[in-house]
Amino acid sequence: MDKNKIGDKIDDEQRPVFTISIAAKMINVSVHTLRLYESSGLIIPQRTESKRRLYSRNDIKRLGLIRYLIEEKGLNLAGIKLLLSLIPCWKIRKCSSKDQKKCDAFKTMKEPCWIVKNKCDLCAADDCRECPVYKKSASLDEVKKLIWCEK
Ligand code: SF4
Repeated sequence: MDKNKIGDKIDDEQRPVFTISIAAKMINVSVHTLRLYESSGLIIPQRTESKRRLYSRNDIKRLGLIRYLIEEKGLNLAGIKLLLSLIPCWKIRKCSSKDQKKCDAFKTMKEPCWIVKNKCDLCAADDCRECPVYKKSASLDEVKKLIWCEK
């Protein structure tokens, strides 16, 4: 991957096609619960021009991971955020030490990088939904690989 470049094309997994009510049915939760996950920063649904939320297959996978961590592993939303904050995005995207000094994801490691307020200039201009760090962190196996920086 080029340094700090987000070049992946939108594939079928990433294509936003499901409305919030369909996504909620698919994982057997309420629409309110999906909104809560979004306001907690665990998921970033695509927004249409009319601000309607749409979810992709990869989003459904991410929601499945959230449900698994809650139901099977007993984590709460704060615990899931902490787990995702362990992903060293600065290594994956090869950020410079100057970039790292500006970035709360690097400095605080309290929240996943796509939630933090202060990011480096390059990340601030990027669409996190299209970033490999965000896209890949939708399954536990991938989260493990990201944390260990494995291919
Ligand atoms: S998900 Fe967003 S904040 Fe995190 S590395 Fe990617 S572009 Fe940067």
